[in-house]
Amino acid sequence: MSLHPDPVCIPAGPLDDARVQLREATTILGYDDGLYELLATPRREVTVSIPLRRDNGTVEVLLGHRVQHNFSRGPAKGGLRYSPNVTLDEVRALAMWMTWKCALLDVPYGGAKGGVRIDPRDYSVAELERVTRRYTSEISPLIGPQHDIPAPDIGTDEQTMAWLMDTYSVQRGHTVLGVSTGKPVSLGGSLGRGTATSRGVVHIALAALTSRSVGIEGATAAVQGFGKVGRYVARFLADAGIRVIAVSDQYGAVGSEAGLNIPSLEEHVEHTGSVVGFHPGEQLTHDELLQARVDLLVPAAVEGVINADNAHRIRAAVIVEGANGPTTPEADRVLDDAGRLVVPDILANAGGVLVSYFEWVQANQSYWWGAAEVETRLAHRMRNAWEQVVAHAAKLDLPLRTAATCLAVERVAHAHRARGLYP
Ligand code: NAD
Repeated sequence: MSLHPDPVCIPAGPLDDARVQLREATTILGYDDGLYELLATPRREVTVSIPLRRDNGTVEVLLGHRVQHNFSRGPAKGGLRYSPNVTLDEVRALAMWMTWKCALLDVPYGGAKGGVRIDPRDYSVAELERVTRRYTSEISPLIGPQHDIPAPDIGTDEQTMAWLMDTYSVQRGHTVLGVSTGKPVSLGGSLGRGTATSRGVVHIALAALTSRSVGIEGATAAVQGFGKVGRYVARFLADAGIRVIAVSDQYGAVGSEAGLNIPSLEEHVEHTGSVVGFHPGEQLTHDELLQARVDLLVPAAVEGVINADNAHRIRAAVIVEGANGPTTPEADRVLDDAGRLVVPDILANAGGVLVSYFEWVQANQSYWWGAAEVETRLAHRMRNAWEQVVAHAAKLDLPLRTAATCLAVERVAHAHRARGLYP
């Protein structure tokens, strides 16, 4: 029997992808349709309108969502995304993946996600502050340290989390540091949170390359996306001795066979806002980056970039998902058949939620850890999760994504069954 989903069912977006992955896991675990439906369906979701007074005095109405997928193992946790492409289905998929990620890393949360349909580059800082405060105010009855804890994602940052925390606190009448994570360190943020996702990706990438007997020194890598995740992934890979020969952002891609000078590239991006035009380096297309002949490919941008159309042209031996949902189920099948190793998002990029969890623990206890303690705990838990997933995959002869999803879904199902169904 094939453990892959029926190939005639063509998924159309991240939510379809997430449900195909869940269906595959529940089939392997022997769960009935009722349990699949329960796990496939968000527990709570809200859509809000956000009236915004622009700096020029006109009023514009934006759309926002918050989806809480599951509470079986604890409060909901997940990022807040500002992007013109946000849809409710995308937010639902991202919330479901957060549930599996938290279970896999054994942090006591269920999954959530939020999104506002906005292109932040078209708005001033003052306008983004008003958007964030109004969105926070609208979802405020649903969030809180024991309910749902937002964090940064695409298009948001530590300033967004500071505004969110302040708005929530003003409404409550006292400072509530534990309502969001990824805040500035001066405001109850954790040391190491800003780079935690990337550090985790690189810990996993080094382990994955080693498992494929690829020597780290002189290995080659391509990184898609140069934002909060991709930028530090490139930096830490280069620090580890890996030759980063291509990087990209939404505007274009740049490459150098000799290896890009990442500190210089970071300076270039600081000044110009994009990797495009960096010297020394040649301009590449987005496709050329994805199809580069490298040992390691790290997609760290958006969903669905490795799909049925291009999977057979991917030449990287190891793909480590910095982004959420970059590989569709059809692409997974092609890559698996071609012997590529795909390390799934719910494992590879879990360093962010792990240190968010550390931040929440510190905020709730009003006691702050040192940077070394954060990094040691992050490295230990990422490697531990890697070993568990690899062992489970070997035991059941499954790809890493399926093994990771099965481990996570089983933990959530156990928690659900132990609590029982109310009423
Ligand atoms: P970000 O907004 O800081 O950066 C996104 C980057 O991707 C930008 O450089 C942008 O130009 C680039 N990009 C967008 N579309 C692209 C395309 N089609 N091709 C190439 N580059 C493109 O966002 P981020 O926080 O770095 O998040 C990136 C991914 O990582 C998302 O999938 C997010 O959900 C995931 N993630 C983020 C965190 C975190 O802590 N920030 C944690 C876990 C997972």
